[in-house]
Amino acid sequence: MTGKRVVVVGMGTSGEAAARLAMRRGAATVVLNDKREAADLDDDKLMALARLGVIFELGGHRPETFAKTDLVVMSPGVPPLAVVDEAAARGVPVVSEVELASWYVQAPIVAITGTNGKSTVTTLIGEMLTASGFATFTGGNLGTALSDAVDTPAAGPEGRLVVELSSYQLERIVALRPHVAVYLNLTPDHLDRYPSMAAYGTAKARIFLNQTRDDHAVVPGDDPVVLAFARGGAGAVHAFGGESSEIRIADGVIATKRGARYPLSIVKLRGAHNLSNVQASVLAAELAGATREGIFEALESFRGLPHRMQFVLEDDGVVYYDDSKATNVGAAVRALEGLDRRVVLIAGGRDKGGSYEPLVKLLRQKARAVVLLGEAAPLLRAAIGTSVPHREAESMRDAVRTARLLAEPGDCVLLAPACSSLDMYPSYAHRGRDFAEAVRALAQSPSFSEPPTTVRGGEP
Ligand code: ADP
Repeated sequence: MTGKRVVVVGMGTSGEAAARLAMRRGAATVVLNDKREAADLDDDKLMALARLGVIFELGGHRPETFAKTDLVVMSPGVPPLAVVDEAAARGVPVVSEVELASWYVQAPIVAITGTNGKSTVTTLIGEMLTASGFATFTGGNLGTALSDAVDTPAAGPEGRLVVELSSYQLERIVALRPHVAVYLNLTPDHLDRYPSMAAYGTAKARIFLNQTRDDHAVVPGDDPVVLAFARGGAGAVHAFGGESSEIRIADGVIATKRGARYPLSIVKLRGAHNLSNVQASVLAAELAGATREGIFEALESFRGLPHRMQFVLEDDGVVYYDDSKATNVGAAVRALEGLDRRVVLIAGGRDKGGSYEPLVKLLRQKARAVVLLGEAAPLLRAAIGTSVPHREAESMRDAVRTARLLAEPGDCVLLAPACSSLDMYPSYAHRGRDFAEAVRALAQSPSFSEPPTTVRGGEP
């Protein structure tokens, strides 16, 4: 890195962390490049980075800058760019922020990818290793960038690095080698950016690319595609679920092949999908050196992350769940499967290019009605047809109010949008908070039974 000219593309959490790391490691110049203008960026952040010596190039991507660089670091959110492709064609290394960070760490990396459950599993494994006494970093795609762990005890030889990796980050790894690589599941998502499911699945399979015989792959035993990806790598393959599972849940006990036993009753997470997440986590944590006491403690204390099937409140016999993080069809399907009540589903947002059919199939069995929101409402309406009563709403408040009118005592109102939030919100977290606030406001208002005025669409 010393004396190198570095361009970091994308001024998000990971781009900033990469720029700081490159400066610390003696880069000659670090240019932080973003298509947004300075006015759209956080002033304090710009100032803090400028004080470190970072140079800004905002409002576009100048070919001259990319012509004079020795290394390009790409943030995961940045779409493919011609200037970057041209630099790569000239032989300039183009890497993701996690790849850059991995050059400066000694601790074993536990990496987690998959369509759904990554953040849950990353957090849980992180807690298991922390409770086992390791200096542990938990982050990556979730929260803090791996670059910020460099030079901390967690990145030292005795530490552990638990890192969530998206397909975008994995596309741009070169040498990153997880000691334990977890590939949780594969269902349609991001088909607005990938040409096919095969392309999306293969990008994630790069998690196994640099593994050696001393490393481990943790994969769902009942998913032949993911299993085949793992077998294509050099690491030892360990399955959760399926015939060859190295971990089983029976008679209220979670039992591992290595002889550990944990009572299922200590697990606070709900839903079948979370039992699969728990199994993957226990297996990966064991392989990363977690103690039985540490695993037990984390299983017992972990209550799940916000906006993932989060209970909001119960009012008039109707319960409200916030699963705003269900940003794809697979996650929304699992959310519905996990509920034993009749559901009024609030869905919609920005479409991701997949099929809604698996969701509609389940809605026919479990939904009392669906309230449609956001850009994808017409697509969802078309997919649902006449099979389930549905209405459209123009805001979250309308949606919650309409859902409450349609729900009957004993039902569940579930926000599981099956779409991204970006048509209406900066993130899924904002959407989830808006939902929860609307639910609380409604529960406190005595007059919710008046029909809302802004609802459109067919009769329920
Ligand atoms: P990610 O980081 O991969 O987006 P999260 O843990 O944030 O994963 O969960 C995302 C969504 O997927 C949530 O709606 C959650 O309830 C759902 N989910 C979690 N684990 C699974 C799983 N194993 N299979 C399907 N859906 C899941």
